[in-house]
Amino acid sequence: MRIVMLGPPGAGKGTYASRLTKILGVPHISTGDMVREEIRAQTELGRKIKQYSDKGELVPDEIIIQLLSNRLEKPDAEKGYILDGFPRTINQAEALDKISKVDLVINLNVPDDIIITRLSNRVVCRKCGAIYNLLTLKPKKEGVCDKCGGELYQRRDDKPEVIKERLEVYRKKTEPLIDYYRRKGVLKDVRCDSLMTPPEVIVEQIMKIINEEEKKGKD
Ligand code: AMP
Repeated sequence: MRIVMLGPPGAGKGTYASRLTKILGVPHISTGDMVREEIRAQTELGRKIKQYSDKGELVPDEIIIQLLSNRLEKPDAEKGYILDGFPRTINQAEALDKISKVDLVINLNVPDDIIITRLSNRVVCRKCGAIYNLLTLKPKKEGVCDKCGGELYQRRDDKPEVIKERLEVYRKKTEPLIDYYRRKGVLKDVRCDSLMTPPEVIVEQIMKIINEEEKKGKD
């Protein structure tokens, strides 16, 4: 199944996608991770896109669409995928429609106060990308990844002034995608109203939707 995770920064797209990928056996494709990898590797492209990412702005459509379409050509994406952080503009959604059919869009609804608290307390593993939260999803040992022992750090764009910009960018450029996909009949809403809701609970809700959709496809 080809799935898009939609929702504001901090809605949990990456957290849920990293669990769903194990259950479904299709790759979790995060354009944010791809962007950070290019920057870390200091490629020419990485140097170009750093200026946008650091400020919480979107990388230009043509660059990100190219990165994503190269990734979708890899054999592991043939049977399906979970997209996290793409598309983020109508232009990107239209480009995706040209390269692949989207079966399901999970729209994560999360109030702003939860998002801000979550992002300000998020730390990420430098080595494997695992996501933790210092309030709700703490690593066993401070500063160290439970999964691979890598160092945990705060993303540059999870600083308060950049969070504000990212939420504004989301409202302006990404939120119109909710209507875009609702009109296509592929969008399902999932709400998370409490900071303390464990990821497993939301993953279970998403799995229920996926199973229902798969069943409909077979009927
Ligand atoms: P994320 O980890 O999804 O929050 O992405 C981190 C940053 O990477 C964003 O703030 C953007 O600068 C850039 N980025 C990731 N995905 C996209 C996209 N689909 N379109 C434009 N920029 C993106």
